[in-house]
Amino acid sequence: MSPEPSASTATLRSLDYSILQQCMRCGMCLPTCPTYDATKKERHSPRGRIALMRAIADGDLEVTHVFADEMSYCLGCLACQTACPAGVDYTELFETARSDAERSAVNATAARSFWRWLSLAVLFRRPRALRLAGRVMRVYQRSGLEAAVRTFGLTMFLPPSLRRVEPQAPRVAPRFSNRLIAPHETPGGDARYRVALLTGCIQDLVFPGVNRDTADVLLANGCAVDTPPVQPCCGSLHAHNGELDLARGLARRLIDLLPPNRYDAIITNAGGCGSHLKRYGHLLERDTTYAAAAREWDRKVKDVSEWLAQIGFRPPRARPLSDNVTVTYHDSCHLAHGQKVTAQPRTLLQDLPGVALVDLPESTWCCGSAGVYAITQPAQAEALLHRKVDNVRRTRADVLATANPGCHLQIARGLGDAGVEMPVFHPVSLLAMAYRRERQ
Ligand code: SF4
Ligand code: SF4
Repeated sequence: MSPEPSASTATLRSLDYSILQQCMRCGMCLPTCPTYDATKKERHSPRGRIALMRAIADGDLEVTHVFADEMSYCLGCLACQTACPAGVDYTELFETARSDAERSAVNATAARSFWRWLSLAVLFRRPRALRLAGRVMRVYQRSGLEAAVRTFGLTMFLPPSLRRVEPQAPRVAPRFSNRLIAPHETPGGDARYRVALLTGCIQDLVFPGVNRDTADVLLANGCAVDTPPVQPCCGSLHAHNGELDLARGLARRLIDLLPPNRYDAIITNAGGCGSHLKRYGHLLERDTTYAAAAREWDRKVKDVSEWLAQIGFRPPRARPLSDNVTVTYHDSCHLAHGQKVTAQPRTLLQDLPGVALVDLPESTWCCGSAGVYAITQPAQAEALLHRKVDNVRRTRADVLATANPGCHLQIARGLGDAGVEMPVFHPVSLLAMAYRRERQ
């Protein structure tokens, strides 16, 4: 894979040592870590992983495939970061460690390199190519070809990891965000704010309706909304998978497309993207051309629920659904732990007429989605999904709300497999539905 030029790529050995030293080995993160919970092994805990990283930084350990596997087993859920009283920057450590593991190529195989190149360097770097792949996928899913391939066992030609997740492939939407949202939309009357709307990658291909709902809610609250029809990926997937140079290149492209000084806010509705989008300042801190704009970018990026709470959104007068419902809310790891946005989506849901919010036990415990975790760690991803579904089922809620497309897909699939009929919505979709029903 040929990365774009970067200002600098930190390795564990070149990383500011104070970041590695922050861990005081207190162990308070251990009960919050899903992989430690699963195995009770120190090396599968945040403290153990940080010790391994420090040993590499100190030159006492080389990057081996055992280390790379350990970093792959970590969900990157950041629950440890929330629990840590010392303020350990686990995001920085984790991304640097995964980057070291990729650079050392200890786990490289020809097939793995090909799929990483195709997904990270081609599809998730070229939005038109990604949409083209989405259209091809939709034809495949709708034409009967998918059924034929499964019937005749042709999935055997896929690598084992992809063969396993092939039945879980999300259904691609008929139209993407650029066909649902005009590049510039204005509210009736004077706009109070000017915002940019990020449409994401998976959100764009699978849940473009959530993007339309987000635009509608912003318009209803006095925001003029700019939504460029073609947007590069935010780079979250790249940073999470150790491709920091690619992530930097994408950050620069997004800043060029949506200069932050033009906007009151840059809105994202995907928890995983938002967590990464708010770190552009750090990602580009050594890039003299972009560093200042990246810092301003970080200040302007808001999750949609965070922005609505900040500007004081108008509670709707109508119910979102025809009946009164109970709703339970699952926290996306990167919205809760990465962005510390937990109260705002709940406030939004509580302000909906006809909605009673019920607590979800372990709402911040990872559902096992975690980017490509279902591909790389299928057993652990399924175990986490079962735990999540059991907790959701226990609430006896009518509806599940969550604010990240990966969690949405993962939990909806788990509920479906368990025979639980419970629709899943983004909180902003429920608000948009309520506003629409006001006009009926
Ligand atoms: S990111 Fe999640 S899985 Fe990884 S060490 Fe922290 S709590 Fe454990
Ligand atoms: S809570 Fe923080 S300081 Fe304590 S062991 Fe975990 S990472 Fe280290």
